[in-house]
Order: sequence, then structure tokens, then C-alpha cells
Amino acid sequence: MLISLHSDLVDPNSGKNMSKINVYLRFRPVFHKPDEEPEDSCIRSADNSTIEMINLRNTQETVSYKFQQVFGENSSQEEVFGTALQPLLSHFTDDVQNVSVFAYGPTGSGKTFTILGSDETPGFIPRTLRHLFARTRKNCSSSNITATFSMSYIEIYQENVHDLLDDRKKLFSLRQDNCGNILIPGITEIKVENFNDFEKYFVPASHQRRMAKTSLNERSSRSHTILIVKLTTQERKAPFLRKTAKLSIVDLAGSEDNRQTGNRGLRLKESSAINTSLHVLGKVVVALNKNNQHRVPYRDSKLTRLLQDSLGGSSHTCMVVNLSPEMSSIFDTQRALNFATKSMTIINRPFTRVEVAEFTPSNEKDETETVNRKHKST
Ligand code: ADP
Ligand code: MG
Repeated sequence: MLISLHSDLVDPNSGKNMSKINVYLRFRPVFHKPDEEPEDSCIRSADNSTIEMINLRNTQETVSYKFQQVFGENSSQEEVFGTALQPLLSHFTDDVQNVSVFAYGPTGSGKTFTILGSDETPGFIPRTLRHLFARTRKNCSSSNITATFSMSYIEIYQENVHDLLDDRKKLFSLRQDNCGNILIPGITEIKVENFNDFEKYFVPASHQRRMAKTSLNERSSRSHTILIVKLTTQERKAPFLRKTAKLSIVDLAGSEDNRQTGNRGLRLKESSAINTSLHVLGKVVVALNKNNQHRVPYRDSKLTRLLQDSLGGSSHTCMVVNLSPEMSSIFDTQRALNFATKSMTIINRPFTRVEVAEFTPSNEKDETETVNRKHKST
């Protein structure tokens, strides 16, 4: 067999590998000013996989929700990364299969803290990249394989795709190749060989976004940011198998209901665009739950089109749903918990994309003729 697939389950009908989306909950500490009493909390973790929320209909009662794991206010970045994302990364580095991670939740709940973090408390992106380079270095040194990484960093704002690695580039459309991969023709894709290389391109792009936060109506809470890392592995010996996979790390726009905030003008336009993408994301999740594969409205928004292979597709996927614990956020919390519950039942079917490179002396230079065997599975 040319292709090895490693997933959690096997579909008894198709024999294909299946992987459920892992949904994790994370809530941050209650915020309060030094001279003010802290607000009451509307949620608490009952055990490490159960969260209890005050019942909206009867505030004397609580409602319980169960997830893969619940990370409370004292959870560290290291713990969240080590539990939620790190175990999936071996599917990317070792099996060369797609992996995706989302942070979902209302504005101010800790999505960017989880995905990006800070210099003192780094989040998923820096931890992941360090892990990837260390792991592939180890894998490659003990085998006859070369591995190359490239990165793209994009933002979807008002249903337009922006290139965060080159802000001179404008207006990108999405295309699908004949293997079903969604492509963004013209988007910057930079080859990165080590963590310093990655930081050199990524840090200025993410700083620029942080600065734009104050000057552009907190654009960051109204746009979706996606870091895409592509991995290509190539055997040095015949049959020169080449495998490719994509890792997507997604910081979603705030999931609060913007229609209720009385936004006008640009704000209203932004809100409705965000509502389109997040609304369609919700519809995609609902359609997938109904097992209605042919009626999933991926094409109805840029976000879902781009992430088509992460939801009901070919990725190993995990979602961190971030919550603000304050009582004043209870409606947003309820909505996010509903979304999280629906997402838990989505099943993906990951596979490895393998191409057979013909032998030519230029194989080492990465110039290969390829035969695509994408959909073959064991
Ligand atoms: P979002 O991206 O969801 O809008 P942020 O990640 O920007 O929210 O978080 C809002 C604020 O809360 C930031 O100041 C962030 O540092 C802080 N914060 C978020 N999560 C935590 C946490 N788990 N522990 C401590 N502070 C947090
Ligand atoms: Mg944010």
C-alpha cells in the first residue's frame, strides 16, 4: 500500500478513516477594575469535561454541557496547547494530513490570546511552529525524506480576502483545483526553514494587525485571520513519493450578535458581512449534522469556502470555544455553547495526498512530474 492513513475511526460502509472534531471550552478570568467588585460569573467547570451555566429561564438552576475538555480561568497556554492541538500535529508532520484549529467565541473572550498569545504567554501559533520544525527535523534525520514548509497569512474582512504578508496585493478570488483543494491564486506563500525565518515574516504582519485594531474600529474583532502552513515531504529514493498537507490556524471574528448593538454606517456594513460568514458557518454546521453532504452551503461565504476541507472534509480538526464568564455575557455564552454542541458531532475523513514523482536527476531540485493519486485510501 502506498498510502498510510491514521485516524481515530473507520467508516464501516466506505472503509474510509473518520475523525471527529474535538471541541474544547476555555473561559478566561472575570475582568474587573481594581476599585470595583468583580461581576458574578455565569459559568463554572463542574469537572474537567463539564461546564455548568446559569439557566436563562430559571436563574436558580444550572444547565450542564459536556465537551472534550473544559479549560478554566487558571489553565495555562502550555496546557491548552498540549491537550487540544499538539496531539493533532503528528497527523500533520508524520501522516502528512490536513489539520485545522479554530478559535470561536464572542469578542473579548480570549480567541486571540489562545491563538497568538503574547511574548510572555505564547499561544498556539508560536508553539505550533516551534513544534513543527523540531519534529520534522527529527523525522527527516532518521529517514530518507526531505520536508519543506511554506506559510500564508490572510484575513477575511467584509467578505474580501486580504494578504497579511503583502498589503499591496488586493482582491483575491478563491478557486478549486481538480483535486478539490481550495486555492487563493496570487496569495503570498513564503518558504520557511526554521522558527527564526517564520518569525521574520509573521511578527511584523501580526504587529500591523494589532496596531490596526485601535485605528480601524477594532477591525480584528470583525475579521477572520487564518495562518496556513503547507508541508511538502519528498522521498529521496524511488518511488520518490511526494506528500502535501495544510495546517490552518483560524482566529475567527467575534460571534456576538452584532444586530443587537445598534451599529450604523461602516459598523453596520462590517457587522452584516461578519454575520454572513459566521451565519453561514452556523448553517454549514447544521447541514453537516443533518448528514446532508450535498446541501452544505460552503459556497455561501468566503470563510466556509476556504475552510471547506476542515468541516466535514479532509482535516483533523479541533475547535476551542472561548467564553467570557461574566454574567453580562450570558446571552453570547449561550449562543457560543449551542454552536459548540452542534460542532461536536461533525465527522471528517482525512487522507494523505500522495503524488508519485518520476525519476529524473532533478528530483533533488524539487522539479518533478507528478501523477496524482490523491483519493486513494487504504
Ligand atoms: P478576543 O480575541 O476573543 O476578542 P482577546 O484574546 O483579545 O479576545 O482577549 C481579551 C483580553 O482578555 C485580552 O486582554 C487578553 O489578554 C485577556 N485574556 C484572554 N484570555 C485570557 C486568559 N485565559 N487569561 C488571562 N487573560 C486573558
Ligand atoms: Mg481577537
